[in-house]
Amino acid sequence: MGKVYLVGAGPGDPELLTVKAARLIGAADVVLHDSLVSREVLAKVSPAAQIVDVGKRAGRKLLTQDEINALLIDYARTKAIVVRLKGGDPTIFGRAGEEMEALRRAGIEYEIVPGITAALGAAAAAGISLTDRRVASQILLTTFSRDAGGSPMDWSCVTPTTTLVLYMPGAEYGAVAEWLRNGGLPEDLPCVVVSGASGPQQIIRWTNIGRLASEEKLPAPALLIAGRVATREVDEISRSFWERRKQGSTLEKFQ
Ligand code: SAH
Repeated sequence: MGKVYLVGAGPGDPELLTVKAARLIGAADVVLHDSLVSREVLAKVSPAAQIVDVGKRAGRKLLTQDEINALLIDYARTKAIVVRLKGGDPTIFGRAGEEMEALRRAGIEYEIVPGITAALGAAAAAGISLTDRRVASQILLTTFSRDAGGSPMDWSCVTPTTTLVLYMPGAEYGAVAEWLRNGGLPEDLPCVVVSGASGPQQIIRWTNIGRLASEEKLPAPALLIAGRVATREVDEISRSFWERRKQGSTLEKFQ
């Protein structure tokens, strides 16, 4: 009976793998990976190991989640080291919960090896601090995926000092902007879209909610960071924020 490692592959740059992830990728008997995992990371898999692509291609799933769970269980019964390799961190929008549940039910040992999630890779690429104390007090990792079955967004937790990180923003920036506006975020709130963070095709687009709809669509994978930290002029923005605070208007939401 083998063991399944749910390993985070990080945002793309192989140097952003943890030492443990790199070791397990090299030692695995079989690696089941998503399409987000970069070629450079997959190059670290031993030539003797089996590589199984269980990811999505062109919007079409190669395998269903149940099929992936069944594969993990089957491999764990015949191989010693089974690596389930996911982009970023396996537990952030990664369906690790479903896989761990299936493994637990089948009595198979597993371990999570955390990775650098895309939010952190993107913030590093853009050179911003998600919790810059001058303008932010909390980070919200969320998604703009209209898949049925997800929990609806609770906008009451979004404040003027929230940094909102939107995974899977999709290609309809107009719809994203509309959704953010409906949540009460102001037109001039800075946003940055980061595509291919940490990889060779990385693109960074600085914008704001008002301009977002007319921005050129960046290639997937991309994520959006919205909040007062999402600018290279935090200092300027924070000065006006603290001015307003002195005038006692911070209890009002945003404006
Ligand atoms: N488990 C992953 C997220 C999976 S959801 C993690 O922790 O990062 C897939 C989404 O992650 C993509 O739609 C995109 O929004 C984001 N993403 C993943 N890698 C990225 C990268 N290198 N640059 C920008 N966004 C990325």
